[in-house]
Amino acid sequence: MRSGKISVQTENIFPIIKKFLYSEQEIFLRELVSNAVDATTKLQALASKGTFKGETGPLTIEVIVNKDAGTLTIRDRGIGMDEEEVDKYLNQLAFSSAEEFIRKHKGDISLIGHFGLGFYSAFMVADKVEVLTRSYKKGKRAVRWSCQGDTEFSIDDAEKEDRGTDVILHLSEDSREYLEEGKIRSLLERYCRFLPFPIQFGTRKVSEKVGEEDREGEEPDIVNNTHPLWKKAPSDISDDDYKAFYSELYPYGEDPLFWIHLNIDYPFNLTGILYFPKIRNNIEVQKNRIHLYCNQVFVTDDVKEIVPEYLMLLHGVIDSPDIPLNVSRSYLQADANVRKISGYITRKVAEKLGELFKKDRKDFERKWNDIATFIKYGLISDEKFWEKAHASALLQNADLEYFTLEEYREKISTQQKDKNGKLIALYTHDPKAHYSYLAAARDYGYDVLLLNNVLDNHFIQTLEMKADMQFKRIDSDAIPHLIEREDSAETVLSETERKTVEGLFSALPNNKAAKTVVKALAPDAAPVVIVKPEFMRRMSDMQYMMQGPGTDGEDNPFLNHYECVINGNHPVIAQKLLATGEGEMQNALADYLFQLAMLDQQMLRGEALHAFVKSSLQRLNG
Ligand code: ADP
Repeated sequence: MRSGKISVQTENIFPIIKKFLYSEQEIFLRELVSNAVDATTKLQALASKGTFKGETGPLTIEVIVNKDAGTLTIRDRGIGMDEEEVDKYLNQLAFSSAEEFIRKHKGDISLIGHFGLGFYSAFMVADKVEVLTRSYKKGKRAVRWSCQGDTEFSIDDAEKEDRGTDVILHLSEDSREYLEEGKIRSLLERYCRFLPFPIQFGTRKVSEKVGEEDREGEEPDIVNNTHPLWKKAPSDISDDDYKAFYSELYPYGEDPLFWIHLNIDYPFNLTGILYFPKIRNNIEVQKNRIHLYCNQVFVTDDVKEIVPEYLMLLHGVIDSPDIPLNVSRSYLQADANVRKISGYITRKVAEKLGELFKKDRKDFERKWNDIATFIKYGLISDEKFWEKAHASALLQNADLEYFTLEEYREKISTQQKDKNGKLIALYTHDPKAHYSYLAAARDYGYDVLLLNNVLDNHFIQTLEMKADMQFKRIDSDAIPHLIEREDSAETVLSETERKTVEGLFSALPNNKAAKTVVKALAPDAAPVVIVKPEFMRRMSDMQYMMQGPGTDGEDNPFLNHYECVINGNHPVIAQKLLATGEGEMQNALADYLFQLAMLDQQMLRGEALHAFVKSSLQRLNG
């Protein structure tokens, strides 16, 4: 037996290890199983080079719980270590890398998967760790390394038949939960689900047919899938395979709409599959659904720093050894590889959309409403995505026809250009509520878009900046004035008549318009219209978005902002109203016209109806 002291440079790291990553204590199992996988991979590599002669035999890694002894063992049949290597790797290398990791990250626990603590993470849960190991090399004896969570260690000769390593954790009093089978199983499912060598955890019952007889037997319970779909060649995978893998990842999800198989090995290595789920209007719930792996080891499902935000609406798996995982988040964002990776994913997603659009436009249109939120989010927030994907973005009009941006510009190019040559796109968020505006716009030969997605307020602004169109909701002005023309019609009213009419309407008790104006509209357009100017309405929408439902007029001054536009050329105004002469009758007629407009435009409907009924009754009474 030989004992010694691990060289301590700064301070005793063991108490720190114990406390340090408490919130992610459970990653110790991932670290140890990963080491076992590494040792097994190395053995396989030596075998294929011919350095290791003989049979590798089964390479299953075992995780064994012994409740009576209070131990958890991770066993592999990898390369193992001889005495010198134990000293070099465990006493020096593993120790100093854990020490360095702790020193670097003390006080900064926002590490993405906490890779880097390695072997010594065992001391987060164990009072004592033993390593029983035997090198693959001929003539090497087995050794037992043992350490009690301080800087003293011992190395003994030991008996071990088989090549490979057992890491035996004597669990500490407050870590006894790791003796529960259910706990270990769920950790293995989380972190080790797709590791490249079989991981055995106990056995499971199977019934076998032997001749006529059903026989109960037991077989090793392998908890992982060693060949996850993303590692296979896309040409070998059917649509059903992709869907089946999706439901393996998200057992309760609906079928995905489509998917992208990622595979790149230069200038960085990355594989994975991204799925497009059906996205309705609820964005929040959808986050954190992409799982990040590093060489098939699960790292995290919080990929904020690695994929652009809008892509977080996607589901699936990204596997890359080139994402630095032992660094803090702020560093990660600045990392060149990470930026390249997110650029690559953006390009792939844009290409896929273009491909689907070209291949089967009808099908793309059918899927549009499910993917619109995600695409709009990308177009709004990512310059690169805009460049590559805007050609496959669709607009839908109130007749439910679809257009690309280019097609739509073409469609409205003759009818909807204002006097400065600017294209004006008209839209509604609710064709039912805007019934009368919509009818009037159609009479005018205008096309009206349907924009009712949660992100449309922002999307409109992006289009205004990038697609050289201006957007106006159809209730933002009297229809003929939505698109400004050179030849605006002459008013038939004199200046005094105009003032009289404006005065008359402004004085109406029910009229709470911010502005009441006479405009020269066509004689056959409506006599009075209620409008919500585009700018004010956008402000009110923004405020609503930020404050959420429940916002009433009081804390959102824009919400009930409307203007009253009177058509000076309408015969009822130009002749009837003015001819009636000052007095009761004239007031009543103006009020009647105003309230009809409120009702017709369904603006503030309840309030308008109520006021209409009330004043009609009053009039009958008086
Ligand atoms: P890392 O795995 O990042 O190198 P660790 O601290 O986890 O760091 O391990 C240090 C070293 O100990 C490894 O590089 C390896 O050489 C050796 N080692 C750890 N576990 C095993 C194992 N199960 N079989 C063989 N060698 C191992």
